[in-house]
Amino acid sequence: MAIRPIVRYGDPVLHAPSAPVETIDDSIRALFDDMIATMYAAPGIGLAAPQIGVPLRVIVIDLSVGEDPAQVIRLVNPEFVEREGEQKHEEGCLSIPGYAGSPARPERVTVRGLDPDGQERVYAATELLARAFCHEIDHVDGLVFVDRLSPLKRDLMKRKLRKKAREGWEE
Ligand SMILES: [Zn+2]
Repeated sequence: MAIRPIVRYGDPVLHAPSAPVETIDDSIRALFDDMIATMYAAPGIGLAAPQIGVPLRVIVIDLSVGEDPAQVIRLVNPEFVEREGEQKHEEGCLSIPGYAGSPARPERVTVRGLDPDGQERVYAATELLARAFCHEIDHVDGLVFVDRLSPLKRDLMKRKLRKKAREGWEE
């Protein structure tokens, strides 16, 4: 289990769709372990594989940030079954430190995917958990929260972020 460097806005891996996982094997289970360790170290409540430079559709979420093992979600090839309603709350992103925005998200989602044993899992989520699913599934689709902001806010933030990406993110 290793804490991996988190890639930042501007790295191409964050801005292109990730590939579906074909086979869930020990390398995928090791990827989950690294992602969980990296998420807790950050600390954060969610992480997608492209955020550690791995272009695969793998996400982890833990709203308890390691306090409650029952809340850890590990999903391969996550997809929405349902999305309903709308909510807007401030979000940040481990790949965009120091920035936040409030994209429109569905109020309720149902998400389906496979767990590290290849078993199908279905999650019905609202509030923060719904937002976390949307945020992480966006990552495997090559989107970040900035892409979901209103055009004015999006363009302003993108200008600042492109400058950051050019000049380098301070640690
Ligand atoms: Zn993020």
